[in-house]
Amino acid sequence: MSSMVPDQYQSASEIAELVTTGEISAIEILERHLNHIEQYEKDVHAFNLVTIDEARAAAEETDKLIAKGERVGPLAGVPVAVKDNLCTEGIPTTASSKILEGWKPPYDATVVKKLKEAGATIVGKTNLDEFAMGSSTENSAFGPTRNPHDLSCVPGGSSGGSAAAVAAGFAPIAIGSDTGGSIRQPASLCGVVGVKPTYGGVSRYGLLAFASSLDQVGPFATSVKDAAIVHEVIGGYDPLDSTSIKQTSNSFLEVLDKDISTLKVGVISELMGGIDGITREVIEQANKAVSVLSAAGAQVEEISLPAALYCLSAYYLIAPAEASSNLSRYDGVRYGLRIDGANLNEMNVNTRTEGFGDEVKRRIMLGTYALSAGYYDAYYGKALKVRRLLAENFAALYKEYDVLLSPTSPCTAFKLGEKVSDPMTMYVNDVCTIPSNLVGHPAISIPFGHGQDGMPIGVQILAPPMKEPVMYQVAHTLEMAAQ
Ligand code: GLN
Repeated sequence: MSSMVPDQYQSASEIAELVTTGEISAIEILERHLNHIEQYEKDVHAFNLVTIDEARAAAEETDKLIAKGERVGPLAGVPVAVKDNLCTEGIPTTASSKILEGWKPPYDATVVKKLKEAGATIVGKTNLDEFAMGSSTENSAFGPTRNPHDLSCVPGGSSGGSAAAVAAGFAPIAIGSDTGGSIRQPASLCGVVGVKPTYGGVSRYGLLAFASSLDQVGPFATSVKDAAIVHEVIGGYDPLDSTSIKQTSNSFLEVLDKDISTLKVGVISELMGGIDGITREVIEQANKAVSVLSAAGAQVEEISLPAALYCLSAYYLIAPAEASSNLSRYDGVRYGLRIDGANLNEMNVNTRTEGFGDEVKRRIMLGTYALSAGYYDAYYGKALKVRRLLAENFAALYKEYDVLLSPTSPCTAFKLGEKVSDPMTMYVNDVCTIPSNLVGHPAISIPFGHGQDGMPIGVQILAPPMKEPVMYQVAHTLEMAAQ
C-alpha cells in the first residue's frame, strides 16, 4: 500500500499560535506546505489549481501585520484549501466541469472572505465530482483524486480533493460542501474530521448551487478542535444568503472538554445492520465508539429512525429535481464555455452536450422527469412526504436524546473504477449521511479505527439544529479514545 500520509499532522491551532507569537512566519509555514504539495500532488491530484502567487502575497501580508503589532485572526498563517465550487475573486472556479472553463468569479464567497479576514492563507482550489455530484471524485472533468492512504483507492466525494488535501498534509484545513454527505463521507474515507453544519449556519453566498434546500458549506480538519475553530470563523449570519440563520451565539469550543456523563446518545439501528449494504467492520467500529461513550458515562440506547429506510430514494428525487433547475443557468450565454450553433437553441444544446459530464446529465434528466407534469405527485411530492416524516422521527428522538450515532460511510475507501459504471452502487455510499441533509441538521464524521484493508473508518455524530456544541463535545470524547 502506497501511503502519502504524514506520520504526524501539525494542527491549525498550533500553526496560528506560532505565527501570531512570531515564532515562525506565515511565509515559512506556507513554503513548507507548498514544498510538500510539490512533492506529492502529482500522485494525489487534490487540487484543480494551486494559487502560489496569491498565497505568498497573503502570507506576506499576515507577516506584515504581525510585525506592526496589529491584531490577526484565529487562523493567522494557516494554509486552507477551498473546494472548487466556491467562488474566489479573479481565480478560476470550475466545479470540476468543462462548462465553466475560463470563468473567473468577480467576487469571493462569504466563507472565503471570512477565512481571509481570519488570517488564513488560501493555497488553492480542490478537485470534486462535477458540480458536487458523486461519492468518489471520479466524476471530475479533470481526472480523479486519489486517496493519500492508498493511491489505488478513491478519496470519497464529492469533496474528495479537500479531504485528500488534509489527509496528505497539503493543508491542515480544507473547506467542502455537503449536500448528501460530500464532506462527511470523504472525511471518513480519508481518515480526517469533516463537519456538515446546521442548514443556514454557514453562508452559501458564492457556493455554486447543486440542491439549494440541502447544500451546506463546512470544514475538514485533522482534529475536532480545529474543525470547531474553523466553523466558528466561517459560521454566522450573512445577509447575502437568504437562508442564513440569525443566531445569537456561535461558540463551539467552550464545551469541548466537558464530560459527557449527563448525555443521552441514541444509536440508529437502521444504520447498524438494519439496512443492507453497510459492512460488518464499519458496524463493529461504530459499536466500539458506543462502548467508549458508555464508559465515559453517557447513557447509550439503540433507537429506531424508521424513515431512514426511504431517505436514499427521497434524496435522489429531491437533489436531482433542484439540480435540474439550478443548472439551467449554464447555457453558454452567461458563463464559461460556449459551443456555437446555427441558432440560440442549438448553441444552448451544443454547449450543454459538450460541457456537462455523464453524471450531471443523468441528474438533470432524472430531475426534469421527476418534476414534469403528471409525475410530480408520484415522485417529487412523495419524496417531500418522506422528508416530512423524517423530520418528525428526528424531532421525537431529540425530545429524549442529545445526539445520535451511526457509521459515516457503509464501507472503507474502494478502488478507483470499482463503482463508477454502476450509479446505484455509488448512490448507496450516502445512506448514512443523507438523513441529516434532508432535515438540515448538523453532523460530524470523525476517524475511528481501520478496516481489514488498513483504510480509515469514520463514525458519525448527529445533533439537533444549532446544537453543534454538544456534537463537538461528544466527537471530542470519541477522538480522545481513538488516538
Ligand atoms: N454523493 C451524493 C450525490 O452524489 C452527495 C453529494 C454531495 O453531498 N454534494 O449527490
